[in-house]
Amino acid sequence: MEHILSLSYGKDSLACLGAIEELGWPLDRIVHAEVWATDTIPADLPPMVEFKKKADQVIKERWGIEVEHIKGNNTFESCFYFKRGRTGRKTKFAGTIYGWPMQRGQWCLQQLKRPSFYTLKNAIQYVGIAADEPDRFHNLNETKKSPLVAVGWNEKRCRQWCEENGLLSPIYQTSTRGGCWFCHNQSIGQLRTLRKNYPELWKLMLKWDEDSPVTFYADGKTVHDFEKRFHAEDLKLIPTDQTFRWEMVIGDLRKNQLNLFDAGLV
Ligand code: SF4
Repeated sequence: MEHILSLSYGKDSLACLGAIEELGWPLDRIVHAEVWATDTIPADLPPMVEFKKKADQVIKERWGIEVEHIKGNNTFESCFYFKRGRTGRKTKFAGTIYGWPMQRGQWCLQQLKRPSFYTLKNAIQYVGIAADEPDRFHNLNETKKSPLVAVGWNEKRCRQWCEENGLLSPIYQTSTRGGCWFCHNQSIGQLRTLRKNYPELWKLMLKWDEDSPVTFYADGKTVHDFEKRFHAEDLKLIPTDQTFRWEMVIGDLRKNQLNLFDAGLV
């Protein structure tokens, strides 16, 4: 049976390499489920793409293993535009494309990472669950093991190991986001940074938003709502001496005179 490390490039996942070494456990392969936004654009932001390349080099030199980047059949975009049938469970979305994942049971979690499960069949899989994460221990069994639990490394120790070995991802050192840059679970601050630093990706978000039958955030906010807010911030039209209220940029002008967009001021 093969022994395979399922690598996410997070600190706990990478620290498994150190723990496996310390335990003297066998390691045959290292696999990473690569998520793509489109056929040509990765789901990771550029600093993370660079970090992965660097980490792969370090791993190859030190452990002699080439990290396998498994690409699924689906990209985020291809799933996003997948059209649901009109028959079957009738919902208000029947016959429409999927669109943003939030109100569709987060389809991205199943659709984008699925290939890794096939690869790991009939193997002992190593996963990066730290010794101080008992809530996740129920995921471990005979074929799914955590070298970190076995060696007793907590999350702090994992971070330290990564730092010592030049393998600490930029998500722990800068404002770089981990996970997909188009994620509906990201904060407003992260969306603001995405728009500022990667305008071409933001433009794609706006295009997808236009086509989506469901809103980006579960509370009904669209990417276009955020665009209005950030644009107004750029123009310094949002009062800084008041708590931000969405009515300042979207909503009914009759109810709120600060609605700059509907007033044609922006
Ligand atoms: S990071 Fe966000 S968009 Fe990407 S798979 Fe996870 S939940 Fe989905």
